[in-house]
Amino acid sequence: MSYLTVSNATKRFGTSFTALDGVSLAVERGEFFTLLGPSGCGKTTLLRSIAGFNDLTSGDITLDGANLRIVPPHQRDIGMVFQDYAVFPHLSVFDNVAFGLKPRKVPAAEIKTRVTQALEAVRLGAMAERLPAAMSGGQQQRIGLARAMVINPRLLLMDEPLSNLDAKLRIELREEIRDIQKQVDIATIYVTHDQEEALAISDRICVMNAGRIEQVGTPPEIYGNPQTRFVAEFVGTLNTFTQGAALEALLQQMGIKVMSVAAWTARPERLGLASRDEQLSGAATLDGTIAKFIYLGREAHVQVETAAGMIVVQIANPGMTRTREPGEPVKVAVPREALMAFGADNARIEW
Ligand code: ATP
Repeated sequence: MSYLTVSNATKRFGTSFTALDGVSLAVERGEFFTLLGPSGCGKTTLLRSIAGFNDLTSGDITLDGANLRIVPPHQRDIGMVFQDYAVFPHLSVFDNVAFGLKPRKVPAAEIKTRVTQALEAVRLGAMAERLPAAMSGGQQQRIGLARAMVINPRLLLMDEPLSNLDAKLRIELREEIRDIQKQVDIATIYVTHDQEEALAISDRICVMNAGRIEQVGTPPEIYGNPQTRFVAEFVGTLNTFTQGAALEALLQQMGIKVMSVAAWTARPERLGLASRDEQLSGAATLDGTIAKFIYLGREAHVQVETAAGMIVVQIANPGMTRTREPGEPVKVAVPREALMAFGADNARIEW
């Protein structure tokens, strides 16, 4: 049996609104498990149900083989980290971290050792006596992390802990969180709506949409092998070819004939770009003209107007020379293995 299991969890608010709709998942010991999805999809509701801050309408949650739903929140031994840090401004860093240990009747000497260790782990060892008010957002969130870990929780829950930080710090701290989590080896459930963050930090990602699970998988599985159109569009960028004669001609070049496909799609980085007169072997092509060339340094996003709609091609290392001008006739190279197809129910179709 898995370490944490959620079975058929449903949560209704009032009589009509269903925030969680039959969610089932399993998290293993030591795993970094991320709930990813757009605002309102039910991530926080699921996290709060595991913490015990709200009760499910129906369903089961077990931790280490035991029913968790009957355990009051303060006895669940779960550490939580919140978006808004939730540090006490009038308490020193040390006392903030020690806070959760006092009601547990931990002896003073052990408190000292454990808090010191937790502060070392988040690299705040030298700041134990400071007041949080004089510290940066990133440092305050490290206090939050130390406070969650110091109780030796059976589970760590983090609800968008980085969203109040600026972009650079977010990247730094997410790597630290990942390293610390692997060191302490505590199963962690992490909530974010940031797909890049989820890909960077997780052992596995659970993509949610409207109270349901779309897909659970490792980051490469979620990105490279999305099972629904929602996952493919939410994680990464996706071109959808407009239905019609141009798409049919493209598919014909590849010898593909599949009925009941609702959408043919491809990721920008799987496509290529060539001049009209270049001979390409091995890829079908679609004629177009450059609409926009967006230079981003290490890559460029090129928007190409084609008879199958506006297609974005991502070019790695655009360099200094080959910028393309709007209006330039080009062709988009579409390798067979770049194509992903989805059916009318939005499920992936293998072809
Ligand atoms: P966000 O990223 O915006 O926090 P989320 O995926 O975490 O989104 P939830 O906070 O779980 O989403 O909310 C899911 C849905 O349930 C939302 O539509 C929200 O408005 C609704 N909801 C949450 N809590 C309550 C409540 N106490 N009463 C009524 N509706 C609620």
